[in-house]
Amino acid sequence: MTTTAEHGVAGQPGAAEQHAHPHAHDHDAGTPVASARPKLAVWKFASCDGCQLSLLNCEDELLSIAEAVHIAYFPEATRAVVEGPYELSLVEGSITTPDDVRRIHEIRAQSGVLVTIGACATAGGIQALRNWADVDEYRSVVYAHPEYLRTLDTSTPIASHVDVDYELRGCPVDKKQLIEVLAAFLGGRKPRIPTYSVCVECKLKGNVCVPVATGRPCLGPVTQAGCGALCPSYGRGCYGCFGPQDSANTASLTKQLVELGMADDDVIRVYRTFNAGAPAFAAASDEVAERVAARSEAAAAAAARADGIVQERGPE
Ligand code: SF4
Ligand code: SF4
Ligand code: SF4
Repeated sequence: MTTTAEHGVAGQPGAAEQHAHPHAHDHDAGTPVASARPKLAVWKFASCDGCQLSLLNCEDELLSIAEAVHIAYFPEATRAVVEGPYELSLVEGSITTPDDVRRIHEIRAQSGVLVTIGACATAGGIQALRNWADVDEYRSVVYAHPEYLRTLDTSTPIASHVDVDYELRGCPVDKKQLIEVLAAFLGGRKPRIPTYSVCVECKLKGNVCVPVATGRPCLGPVTQAGCGALCPSYGRGCYGCFGPQDSANTASLTKQLVELGMADDDVIRVYRTFNAGAPAFAAASDEVAERVAARSEAAAAAAARADGIVQERGPE
């Protein structure tokens, strides 16, 4: 794909030792390597690689993409590395180590436009569950030698560390939306990505509403569209993998979930999945958790009071 030798160190921005030559040619495509083509880099942090795979899954469009942009750094697709700066960086994954913090700043410095892709990069991913846990305890239970690990107490989105030009949601991202982002970048315009809820897509498809028809929970009313209401189209409730939509009324949904018979712990769990760290879902789950904690405290206080009364009276 590129004209450079493969001397770059994966994950190290700017580590490549050779440069694209303006008059060089693509070896496999036989087409000129147009130095005018914007350079695209795809970076990975804490993630499962699924969002990068969405790019590789754009089978019908991949050749056109490769003609429009110079894929300069994309370890999942090619070992070849072309030195930055890069006109467009796609970043997958969340920040979970001190090294990640250093690396994302280097990547930002080398990137013209930086787009984060997927729930990990935009909300901290499923690994953001550690934000409610004791990381030291996890470390000591999982690893034989936790002293060799350097990790952060939290998993945070890329935007918590550097400026991000656009965030594309989903776990994984939708490939049509990914192509729209690339097309918008090439056209110098804003991506046309909806910010309304999955319910809108669901109604447009004429689906029967899952909670209304079956009583099963669905996060569609508070989740951003983009998947084409995939789960409700198969009779299953949405579990929020595209994260909160721009005006998510989680208070109303929480009330409805409880009315449908969901236990508080389960309500907390439905908000704490792939987008647990997204502010709207985090706040909704915290609200329920605080209510549960207040109820347990009140019950413990009542039990202590009753115990005190019994002791005061003495055995009957
Ligand atoms: S957002 Fe989902 S699919 Fe994408 S990298 Fe994270 S876990 Fe994988
Ligand atoms: S099934 Fe879910 S997404 Fe579809 S309309 Fe009902 S609540 Fe909304
Ligand atoms: S319906 Fe919800 S859970 Fe299913 S793919 Fe769409 S956003 Fe994700």
